[in-house]
Amino acid sequence: MSVLVVGTVAFDSVETPTESRDEALGGSAVYFAAAARHLGPVRLVGVVGEDFDRGLLEDLEAGGVELDGLEVVPGETFRWAGRYLDDMNQRETLSTCLGVFEHFEPKVPEEWRGTPFVFLANGAPPIQAQVLDQMTDPVFTLLDTMDLWIDNMPDELRGVIGRVDGIVVNDEEARALTGENSIVNAARAIQGMGPEVVVVKRGEHGALFAVGSELGAVPAFPTGEVVDPTGAGDSFAGGLMGALAQAGNAGADAVRRGVVDGTLLASFTVEGFSTEGLGRVESDLESRRAAFRRFASLG
Ligand code: AMP
Repeated sequence: MSVLVVGTVAFDSVETPTESRDEALGGSAVYFAAAARHLGPVRLVGVVGEDFDRGLLEDLEAGGVELDGLEVVPGETFRWAGRYLDDMNQRETLSTCLGVFEHFEPKVPEEWRGTPFVFLANGAPPIQAQVLDQMTDPVFTLLDTMDLWIDNMPDELRGVIGRVDGIVVNDEEARALTGENSIVNAARAIQGMGPEVVVVKRGEHGALFAVGSELGAVPAFPTGEVVDPTGAGDSFAGGLMGALAQAGNAGADAVRRGVVDGTLLASFTVEGFSTEGLGRVESDLESRRAAFRRFASLG
């Protein structure tokens, strides 16, 4: 089954303690699509400015990502710049230039409105709600968000959380959303806001998930060298949604497999700048999956 993503297509400038890259291809929708495409068909809805060279998306398109929902409008493409501190788990945003994303009104092409799996990447809650308004009876909708919206648009965010089937957040966001210190209690409290499926990413501690009354956990993949963590969260969501779309449902077994695939896809992303690390998925995913099963002592 197909997956639809709505999010940013961006130029990212990234500094790590040892290297830097200027204006490389990035954005939540790009990372999501570059990961999910390895598991099934992906449809991308987003916006870029006239300064964007469409050739940058050639590999995605060749890899099966449909781009009919990508608008080109006058103005500048979304730009984000960030710096990682020495331990690479901490990131500072240096600048965010919304450009054409500021007035983005997502338009889901008519033929895509029945897409069964829908990912609302991090963005303003009213925009996320506009996407939901356009979809016809999706099987599963998943939402990502961030501290900016938790702090600045709490009511609008609550409204959209109440309309989706699942949410993916990190541990700090889960605590900020609920006021709960325990991650398990936070996940349960978020379920109380509406979503049946809650996935909490915990960095080097892996991920915890709640599906109905079931709880589960998956460890982090033991990555040796982290080159650039940018996009890990969106690639995680791409692996998760790709696996759910393969399963055709979001039951506890599918979510468990999805959290494993999300963890694996994110592990590829952090091994290179931009989407370069994901270039190794095709050849290495199966062996990495087998290694991860042994690592996690899952037999
Ligand atoms: P992640 O590392 O998974 O949290 O995602 C990083 C990606 O999100 C980068 O490629 C950025 O271009 C994009 N991004 C950063 N800030 C925002 C924002 N405020 N809204 C939407 N996308 C963003």
